[in-house]
Amino acid sequence: MQKISNLYLLIALEIFLMKKKLIICPTCKKKNTWQANNPFRPFCSERCKLIDLGEWASEKHRIAGEDAHKTESSDEEDKE
Ligand SMILES: [Zn+2]
Repeated sequence: MQKISNLYLLIALEIFLMKKKLIICPTCKKKNTWQANNPFRPFCSERCKLIDLGEWASEKHRIAGEDAHKTESSDEEDKE
């Protein structure tokens, strides 16, 4: 459940910053003012959004429980 708690914390932080009309790009940590017409928010640019999507692909943001029933071990290369 730790990962889920962290997610709620992140969302709460995001709402807090939105109220201040300030967002922090998750990729480059640059502070930006909220722009409703920015299609890449909360990222500052398309580039940062794509970088974050790349991190998804590399499983940094793996959703807890998605494949927890498949294998609990992270040592998938544990063959003899
Ligand atoms: Zn950025």
